[in-house]
Amino acid sequence: MGENHFPRPVIVLSACLNSEPVRYNGEIIKNAFVEKLKNFVDVITVCPETEIGLSVPRDPIKLYLEKNTYRIYQTKTGIDLTEKMDRFSSEFLNHLKGVDGFLLKGKSPSCGFSGTKIYRDKNANDILKRGMGLFAQIVKEKFPDKPIEDELRLKNPEIRHHFLTAIFALADMRNLDKNGKAITKLIDFHTKYKYLLMLYSQKKLHQLGRIIAGYKKGRFEQTLSEYEKIFYSVFERKPGIKKHYNVLQHIYGYFSNKIQPSEKRHFLSLMEKLKNEQIPLSAVVEIAKNFALRFENFYLMSQKYFSPYPEQLEFSTSE
Ligand code: SF4
Repeated sequence: MGENHFPRPVIVLSACLNSEPVRYNGEIIKNAFVEKLKNFVDVITVCPETEIGLSVPRDPIKLYLEKNTYRIYQTKTGIDLTEKMDRFSSEFLNHLKGVDGFLLKGKSPSCGFSGTKIYRDKNANDILKRGMGLFAQIVKEKFPDKPIEDELRLKNPEIRHHFLTAIFALADMRNLDKNGKAITKLIDFHTKYKYLLMLYSQKKLHQLGRIIAGYKKGRFEQTLSEYEKIFYSVFERKPGIKKHYNVLQHIYGYFSNKIQPSEKRHFLSLMEKLKNEQIPLSAVVEIAKNFALRFENFYLMSQKYFSPYPEQLEFSTSE
């Protein structure tokens, strides 16, 4: 769709997902999606457990809850590693600049963003619940607006679409040429993000529009900084299918009076099926894209809603 230049997002990646030999059991992980992703993003790898001095191989550590505080403990050696992990995580995260997201290793007591076993106490064998590892919790605390995921959750096509959309959008904002101090660049940026912003938050789309409309000559930096602040917070939550339905209805308005009645009926019946979650989103988005191409609607063709990230990263069932 149109001409697409994608910036390279910068993501923090659990080192073991980068096939580095840092796992507690020395195992090397090969993750096909991570390998593909690395062609389009820059990574900063980190292994919090080796950073706090643990060796490879090492005795596993356990995450547990004590008086509402999460702690990590190496059962075999009896060493509590919580303070060391807190200190390392804060130092490492406080020094990060220009990061667009985090891709962490699922289920790990340190990195796990989901599915980590949380034990009742340090000696218990029974699980209280599942949740986030200690390092991941500190990431979430320090970067509440940034996309954070683990490789297990990214097996879900919708979660993956959201994660990729968010990291590429944040990188695009970060890479916007700010030197020219030209409001036109920000207007162009806003224009191509219109339907993606509408998808995530109508309210923020309007707020951003008002910031641009309120621009006064010579005050580009202030306008940009207000814009960035809201833009960076837009992609917090994955939008549901009803929000896609709403955006696609708006897009449909561009060609509803140009297509044949039979095409209309077909498109609208697909929209109904989409609303009821009977068909995948891509089935309708592809038809809408086709109409944009057929009627040479350059405005729609340039919309980030249609191409939020490189198509090579689109979900494939062969992964
Ligand atoms: S999950 Fe995190 S702490 Fe564990 S080996 Fe991988 S990078 Fe290191």
